[in-house]
Amino acid sequence: MEIISSYLPSAGIGYDFSSIHLEPMTFLEMTQYVDGVKDISDIERYFYDIRMLAHEDANILNCYIMDIDFLIFYKKLISVSGNTNLTVSVKCPDCGTIIKKEISLEKDIKFENIDEKIMGGAIIDLGGKRYETKVPLVKDLLKVFDVFKRYSRVSDLKMMKTISLFKDFETKSQQIENDVLGATRGDITLLLALRDLYFDRVEPVKVFCPNCNKGKSVSERRSMTVSVDSLIVDFFQSVCLNCGLDGSKILFKQIS
Ligand SMILES: [Zn+2]
Repeated sequence: MEIISSYLPSAGIGYDFSSIHLEPMTFLEMTQYVDGVKDISDIERYFYDIRMLAHEDANILNCYIMDIDFLIFYKKLISVSGNTNLTVSVKCPDCGTIIKKEISLEKDIKFENIDEKIMGGAIIDLGGKRYETKVPLVKDLLKVFDVFKRYSRVSDLKMMKTISLFKDFETKSQQIENDVLGATRGDITLLLALRDLYFDRVEPVKVFCPNCNKGKSVSERRSMTVSVDSLIVDFFQSVCLNCGLDGSKILFKQIS
């Protein structure tokens, strides 16, 4: 299956490939996957997912980080669903009701429009120093992850993504890490703005609790949000909980 680059959150700006190739997992691959991620942390699972995709199409490593969550979601979705719809369970934080919501890849998953001007990178001042940033690629994030794992430093994915924005990470990793983790006041605002620009491009899906919103008009209704990165962590577990057999797959024989 080919996913056209212009269909991705980054709109494929600056890519020298026109599509990404992904196939649905077979039963064997899915079984191996579920076994492979059983005893690892969420963050290791994220990198496990990335390596699985890169095994199929090496250009995954040259994708922007802003595209990877969508691609992981896509791979998992086509592996379990023929129509790119997925039912998820969400617990209402106010009343505890479990709400089932069908999410459609075409209708519900939307990206914020990308501004071509930001794709060339920037010069920033952080911790009194001047740094050059770039639009980080998946392979940049893997480098940060490897360094952090080797020296068992912070294991916060958002921090790693932020650090991968810096062009000189390979030569100044310790200094950049100190300036990012130790950022204060105006520098925090700057880093949060960069995160917004380069990472969270997939808009969260809105879910309404029928119990808390009983009798309310559309404008009064309060919604909850479900983000794609939260969906991909427990994806297969969620599928098993929400997708029962439809009854046409197995016909039990009558005992005579
Ligand atoms: Zn509720």
